[in-house]
Amino acid sequence: MNTNYNSAYEQLTAEKIAVLKNEPLKNHTTFKIGGPCPLFVTVNSVQELKTTLKILDTHKIKFFLLGNGSNLLVDDSGINSAVITLSGEFKKIEINGNTIACGAGVSLAKLCTAAAQANLQGLEFAYGIPGSTGGAAFMNAGAYGGEMADVLTLAEHITQDGEDGITKGEQLQFGYRSSCYRQNGCIITKLHFALQPGKFEEINAKMKDVMQRRTDKQPLELPSAGSVFKRPQGAFAGTLIEQCGLKGYKIGGAEVSAKHAGFIVNSGGATCDDVLNLIKHIQTTVQEKTGYFLETEVIYLK
Ligand SMILES: Cc1cc2nc3c(=O)[nH]c(=O)nc-3n(C[C@H](O)[C@H](O)[C@H](O)COP(=O)(O)OP(=O)(O)OC[C@H]3O[C@@H](n4cnc5c(N)ncnc54)[C@H](O)[C@@H]3O)c2cc1C
Repeated sequence: MNTNYNSAYEQLTAEKIAVLKNEPLKNHTTFKIGGPCPLFVTVNSVQELKTTLKILDTHKIKFFLLGNGSNLLVDDSGINSAVITLSGEFKKIEINGNTIACGAGVSLAKLCTAAAQANLQGLEFAYGIPGSTGGAAFMNAGAYGGEMADVLTLAEHITQDGEDGITKGEQLQFGYRSSCYRQNGCIITKLHFALQPGKFEEINAKMKDVMQRRTDKQPLELPSAGSVFKRPQGAFAGTLIEQCGLKGYKIGGAEVSAKHAGFIVNSGGATCDDVLNLIKHIQTTVQEKTGYFLETEVIYLK
């Protein structure tokens, strides 16, 4: 580890901010793949986040903001930047009438459950997406006819320079699996949702239905990062891959799921290279046989 990382580690520790050295990222991704990062920082408050950004900036260390690691493919050699993850006050949920505000570290599962218990509907589509609310806002995560753009009205953030800011309404620039946060590099700290009054039993039944459909169709029993490819216009990635006879195709420990061809699963000991090679093979085969180019949805980190 170079001296910059060591000095930053000491300064963070002196500030009582939780930091680990050489933490394997495979412990923090749903793919269970990924080498180490030099510094793995867990911040519990906006103040700790700002202090961390200042310390990293002083030492010219880049950072990556990790949510729940459910849309990531991390290189086997790890990454050459610090990783920041949100805990403590970023895990809080506040309910006020038909609106919910929550920290960006809250899981979608907890948010959906809290909304249902408060008789608020609108978030049922998100039940079962294994991300944090911050990661879901960044990606404009969606499923079963709904997406974050439908319910998220305002996001609070900290810029890379440590300034507070908010983005609301159209400024959020939601698109297919994208938001303004994919461009501006800000850290989302808190999210505000506008929901509709509903009945717990009905909301809960919808959530159960959505979860059942996932369990029936998706290989949830194996590590993955969900759908690897974006939906191409006029087709479904999984269907195209299946039509090309690639269901069950394997490179090393990476396998096209036999249950849902849009998923690549880690069937045991898969490396990042296995997954990258399998992605390339799928892209080439599908383009040759169908003319569609499959763009990746999963974010590759090196
Ligand atoms: C089994 C399975 C099923 C899935 N089903 C779906 C689905 O139905 N629909 C769907 O859209 N996705 C799905 N996904 C993919 C994934 O869950 C979503 O993309 C999710 O929104 C990612 O959130 P995360 O917290 O895990 O983000 P991460 O994977 O940790 O990060 C993704 C990106 O978001 C950024 N980010 C995370 N938090 C913040 C923050 N606070 N501020 C700024 N940037 C941030 C990261 O820097 C990174 O660039 C699935 C994944 C799996 C494993």
